Parts: sequence; C-alpha cells; structure tokens
Amino acid sequence: MMTTTLSAQECIAREDAWGAHNYHPLDIVIAEAHGAWVTDTEGRRYLDCLSAYSAVNQGHGHPRLLRALIDQASRVTLTSRAFRNDQLGAFCEELAQLCHMEMVLPMNTGAEAVETAIKAARRWGYRTKGIPNGQAQIIAFEHNFHGRTTTIVGFSSETAYREQFGPFAPGFVLVPFGDINAVRAAMSTNTCAVLVEPIQCEAGVLMPPDGFLRDLRALCDEQQVLLMADEIQTGLGRTGTLFACDHDGIVPDVYILGKALSGGFYPVSAVVSSREVLGVFGPGSHGSTFGGNPLGCAVAREALQVLHDEQLVERSAREGAWLLAQLRTLHHPAIKAVRGRGLMCAIELHEPARPYCEALQQRGVLCKETHGTVIRISPPLVVSREDLERAVDALRAVFEVS
Ligand code: PLP
Repeated sequence: MMTTTLSAQECIAREDAWGAHNYHPLDIVIAEAHGAWVTDTEGRRYLDCLSAYSAVNQGHGHPRLLRALIDQASRVTLTSRAFRNDQLGAFCEELAQLCHMEMVLPMNTGAEAVETAIKAARRWGYRTKGIPNGQAQIIAFEHNFHGRTTTIVGFSSETAYREQFGPFAPGFVLVPFGDINAVRAAMSTNTCAVLVEPIQCEAGVLMPPDGFLRDLRALCDEQQVLLMADEIQTGLGRTGTLFACDHDGIVPDVYILGKALSGGFYPVSAVVSSREVLGVFGPGSHGSTFGGNPLGCAVAREALQVLHDEQLVERSAREGAWLLAQLRTLHHPAIKAVRGRGLMCAIELHEPARPYCEALQQRGVLCKETHGTVIRISPPLVVSREDLERAVDALRAVFEVS
C-alpha cells in the first residue's frame, strides 16, 4: 500500500514542480477524510465546507460506498461497452426511476455529460423539429459553468476559461441569467435547447429570479425547445430538494448529473431523459470506454441508496435552513449578501474572499472562494448540527477579527 511519508511542504513542492498549474488550491495537503472532516499530513483536522464541489454529498469515505467499491472491484471493474455487464441495466433503471424519466446515458465526468446532452439536443432538433442540418442552436446563460472541454468553454462568458483556446464551436447563444425576455428574443426556429444551471454555483451561487425557471419551462414548451438542466452540482440533495428545479416545481426535458452520483469515489455522470431524446443515439454515434463500467455503476447505485436511506435531501433542507439563518446574523462591513438553498450557502463580500478563506482554514474550516468575492459554504450533507455550529463559530471569529 502507498502511504505518504512526505511533509506538506514536500508534497506542495513536488506538485508545483511536476504538475501543471491549472489550479490555485489552498495550501492544505489532505491525507485522510471521513464524513465531513479531512485530516492533513500533520494530523490537523478541518471541517470540509466545499465537499469537492458537491461530489461528496454522502460524506468522505462513506463505509457503504467503500464496501460497494471493494466488492465490485473484486469481481469486475471494466468490460467496455463492447460487452454487457451485470450492473449497468440496474443502474440505468434505478436512476431513471428516481428522476421519473425513461432513459439514462452514463458517462464519467460532468463535462462529458454536458457534451452528451448537447449532442442529443442537436440530433433531436434535426430529427424531431426539422432544423436544417448543421444549423441547430442552443441558448445558454452568461456566467455559466458547464465544464472545461473546448466546446463548453467556447460558450463561457469568462475570459479566463476561454482565452487562447479557440477556435470554438458555433451554435451557442448567450443571454443574461434570469432574463426571460432575452431568452425569448434569442429563440429562433433553429433553437433546439436551452441549457441552464438552476442555480449558478460557480458564478457565485446565483439564484434565478422568482418564476424564471417556470417561465423558461413554459417558453420551451411553447417553442418546442428542450429544457436541459445542468444539475451536476445542484442535484441529488445539495439544495434541500432532490433537484434544484424542484424549488420551482418544474421538470426539465433533460437532467445532466455527475459529482454526487458516485459520492466522490469514482467519476460517474449521466444524462437522464426521455426515450424521444436519448433514443437519437444509435450504435457508434456516442460512447466512452469507461462510461457505464460496472465499478462506477455499482458505486453509483449505492450512492443513490445512501441518499435515500440516510434522508440526505431532508437533512440538507433542515440543516441548510438553520445554517442560512445563522449566516444572516453575521454583520461585517465586508459582507455584501448572504444567500442559500439547502446546504448550498454563500457569503458574498465587497472584497476578495481568499484572505477570509485562509483565515477560516486557520480555524479548521475549509472553504474555497468562488468568483473572487464569494465564500461558498457547502459541507457534505451528512454534516452534524454540532459541526455546523463550529463552522458558524469560526465564521464569527473571522468576521469579528478582520
Ligand atoms: N456543470 C456544473 C454545473 C459544474 O459545477 C461542473 C463542475 O464543477 C461541471 C458541469 C463539470 O463537471 P466535471 O468537473 O466533472 O467535468
């Protein structure tokens, strides 16, 4: 077994020397993690308030997921889709039923699932809506975050994500998030889909205006356009409902899922939709060597079961409401706004959030700034009230002394 005997400084030096510098992490070197807590190489413990961007909703190292992983790994890990495996069918059925949908297409990373949804929507547009081949258009929103492939960053509005990575794929139109009139104006007979994050998490946990998602649903119905919800970060309980779309009482045509779908053990993502939409794929039209592999499927099946058995969606709603109420009692000139749904909470500042995240780290709480001025607070959904109280104490101390 490979265990680390290196000091934090050595780990950081090696990573910086040999790894590409495409991230700017806090300098904590995690060596172990269980539940809502992580431990660094020096044995210091921290409450994880990022949850790997909501991938570990079920908590780090959940024993049931570990068991499922080990059991499945000892049988068969990868068959490729050239052959069938005994986990894929059950995974698709269980996930489709959870989403009240008809079909599932499994992939690995979130970005791959978004790419899959884009392909499905375009082909659906040509076949079902009669859009002239090569002309399909997808409407997305300013400040979106859907992943890092060249197609996806091509329709990002963030310079840092796009700069010098072009040329980009055509066929995307950007409109302001929350502006239904702008969506209506951008629609044409060639529009096949609207791609939306029901809460823009990476953009700073931005909530849509009241009624926006309902209006979007109605507009898409009226114009025969697919509504595709990227619930990779917001889905599976994070916001206190199974899907963030549930807050607005809407059901999209396509769910795009990832992250917590496998509880942080293994990359598993999926597009979940109707037979009409996912039926556009025939053999050879799409695929992935690892997508739908038995190890990923077995872990994901258990991850969904844990979500249900431990009532994590309900926990997220209850504990999130408590946390948000506490955050609203923080008063400091640097605080511009406090917002949240379920255990996806955020404090927006008038100034850079990084120093506050570093101060929180000193007090044993791990948060990561997003969009420069926002501190996202999104602990694993298994977090206890006592742990949340610690996080609030740390926040009080940081906002009092700074
Ligand atoms: N979509 C959303 C809403 C996300 O938050 C992310 C990742 O943060 C992605 C897509 C991309 O997922 P991945 O990093 O697994 O490719």
